[in-house]
Amino acid sequence: MDLSKLTIAEARRALDAKEYSALDLTNAHLDAIREKDADIHAYLEVWEESARAEAVAADAMIARGEAKALTGIPLAIKDNMLIHGRKATAASKILEKYVASYDATVITKLKEQGAVFLGRTNMDEFALGSSTENSAYGPTKNPHDTSRVPGGTSGGSTAAVAAGMALGALGSDTGGSLRQPAAFCGVVGFKPTYGEVSRFGLIAAASSLDQIGTVGKTVEDAHTLFDAIRGHDTKDSTSLPNASTPLEAETRRRIGIPRQFLKEGMEPDMLAAFESTVASLEKAGYTIVDVELPALEYSLAVYYIINPAEVSTNLARFDGIRYGLSVPADTIGDTYSKSRAAGFGPETRRRILVGTFVLSSGYADAYYRKAKAVRELIRNDFAKAFESVDAIVMPASPTAPWKIGEKADPVSLYAADIFTVPVNLAGVPAISVPSGTVIRDGKELPVGFQIIAPHRAEDTLFKIGSDIERA
Ligand code: GLN
Repeated sequence: MDLSKLTIAEARRALDAKEYSALDLTNAHLDAIREKDADIHAYLEVWEESARAEAVAADAMIARGEAKALTGIPLAIKDNMLIHGRKATAASKILEKYVASYDATVITKLKEQGAVFLGRTNMDEFALGSSTENSAYGPTKNPHDTSRVPGGTSGGSTAAVAAGMALGALGSDTGGSLRQPAAFCGVVGFKPTYGEVSRFGLIAAASSLDQIGTVGKTVEDAHTLFDAIRGHDTKDSTSLPNASTPLEAETRRRIGIPRQFLKEGMEPDMLAAFESTVASLEKAGYTIVDVELPALEYSLAVYYIINPAEVSTNLARFDGIRYGLSVPADTIGDTYSKSRAAGFGPETRRRILVGTFVLSSGYADAYYRKAKAVRELIRNDFAKAFESVDAIVMPASPTAPWKIGEKADPVSLYAADIFTVPVNLAGVPAISVPSGTVIRDGKELPVGFQIIAPHRAEDTLFKIGSDIERA
């Protein structure tokens, strides 16, 4: 039996029935990493020894009858979440030697559950990109075709789960970084409502858009991971109060499609795969209606102003003095510029330049404030649409995974985010579920179907997502 092919739910049942130990399970995943990761490069670092020790501790918890949902479950963590005593680099040279001095809240919660930490996964530097090619440590490859990208920026986490090198993973999603790589790798990627999961200990990219979320082989697994990490946190001032009213997902049967918006540059077989999933939902008893979200056409323009603005502000803390890389120079000004020039990769520098420009006096009214105003229109479009439907569906990506190196022009990469960025601008939850495949160069590649729900209606996503899995 290949233990790396299990889901979290299956592993939980078997661990509790003592069919095998958490150590067996962890060893199976470490073997899979040793066998496959030289090709795929999902991990930046693997913690064999501590993972085994955590598995042994988990076996003791199970033996004492104290097992929780994730006790003994081997997980992969995106390299932008802090684990006390471990390196956290956000795949940047500027943090190459940085060691975290505390645990992110999500890590504290996973430790309380007795989860096993296999290692930290590759990503686009500071979560800026859509393909994991912007990592300072080399790209991750798509397990379905290693000449293609796994998507990004959580491409290491989604490739690890897809290739059986972790049972589940954490990632972050600022503009699609869980949903799009999950779609490209054929796994489930889930972004909660903004504020539902604490961002304390997440290396910030764009703070009003960033959200930690989960990767699983199934909707149920992504949900289990979410339940383990969610909840109010006094250490995050944007954290929501704990949800009190249970949602009645069963009764939520009306789904809207913004068909006008979907015409934007979709590959024809990707659109056909999307429509065939819509048809299967209709067959499962959902009512499908058209919805209009007219401001969505401005999403990319708004996102690529607000994201760089916030990124430039957040990354100002990397000055060659307080954190990470420091290049010695004669003046303090030279220390700043030399350290930042040596430490940041090209895309990160581009965002900082664009961000400081759109925030500069004389241009802030024309760009940053205008973008914030249009962001409100996008939020209102979603709120209005959700008055008549329970969920909105869209593809996770207009295209199939592209070849590594194919999209060299940054704007063509930005354009690939068209269906995911509106969700972060509105702060609503969304999930990408594998549904269908397309063929490229004779290889079958996964397609992701995206479901979007109103604030805090995560249960609706899990219900519809499970119905798609069953269809
Ligand atoms: N592709 C988007 C960007 O480059 C989103 C990245 C993300 O979600 N972290 O900003």
